[in-house]
Amino acid sequence: MKNKNKIAAILLLTLFVGGICLYSWNQFPNSKSNEVKKGDEKQLANPANFMTDSAYVYIEKQVAFGPRVPGSAAHASCAEWMKSKLSSFGFDVKEQTGTWPNWQGIAQPIRNISASFRPQAKRRILFAAHWDSRPYADKDADFSKQRTPIDGANDGASGVGIILELARMANQLPEGIGMDVLFLDAEDGGKPEWEPAASDDYLTWCLGSQLWAKQTTSRAARYAILLDMVGADGAKFNKEEYSVTNAGGAVDRIWAIAEKIGHGSYFPQQKIQGIVDDHIFMNQVIPTLDIVDMRPGAMGAQNFEFGSSHHTHSDNMSVISKNTLKAVGETLAYTLWNVE
Ligand SMILES: [Zn+2]
Repeated sequence: MKNKNKIAAILLLTLFVGGICLYSWNQFPNSKSNEVKKGDEKQLANPANFMTDSAYVYIEKQVAFGPRVPGSAAHASCAEWMKSKLSSFGFDVKEQTGTWPNWQGIAQPIRNISASFRPQAKRRILFAAHWDSRPYADKDADFSKQRTPIDGANDGASGVGIILELARMANQLPEGIGMDVLFLDAEDGGKPEWEPAASDDYLTWCLGSQLWAKQTTSRAARYAILLDMVGADGAKFNKEEYSVTNAGGAVDRIWAIAEKIGHGSYFPQQKIQGIVDDHIFMNQVIPTLDIVDMRPGAMGAQNFEFGSSHHTHSDNMSVISKNTLKAVGETLAYTLWNVE
């Protein structure tokens, strides 16, 4: 590469701004993908300030409504609150509704909330998260509480909280960059563990994204980032298999950004097994990657599992870590501010 010395010189002269180093794209590992290569020799632009406390308060607010189980008063109140927040941030907000059969075969009403900022801008990312909470605590050690809904502070509210904070920052985006938001309903009402398992059980999850994929025929952004369980203390966001398969270039780019801005310990480079989440259905419309907390489990170092609070009553505000919110939020802010 003929510009290598020049790039090295630029790197030596790199300034530290706000404690964060500016790097050449050329220094990114995994720079084989087109998405990274295209930005060769370009420095990372600094984003607006991701306010961790603000994201935390957005999570707290959702939990305070009560479990956001579809059909409940808490669910309805939370929908209105999310829509009003997005409107106040200058987004054009729409609601997509319909029904989808749940695990009992009953038509489940769905409320997906989508919003866009600067719809004409070509440079943009779609950020998605589910906003419902699980109606069952079917992995809770206390059997007497397994049929009651969970707070879902991490499983649901954390993704929405981080995206709302990014949306709050949107009016500071450089000209030409836009942002889309998708809050998906009814991700987490899948068949409970006390029921006999069947091979097509994966279809009982992610009802909101299944409906969305059927209703949505075009996309504005080149790719989407799904957030799920992004707030727990000690989170590890490994490279989930379907994310790598469908949006590998974006995965490499985001994980490289995390490394460069000092959040690499949250984003290990390890590739792990695929999981059922909204991204597998969103992929029918737009290449989607999933940032999801999975850690080596009891079955050994190669078998990654969701954290111990998953689908239990321990998934409450006590598991939420501001350090984790900061790591994810800043990584995504840099990603958005530097989108191509
Ligand atoms: Zn869940």
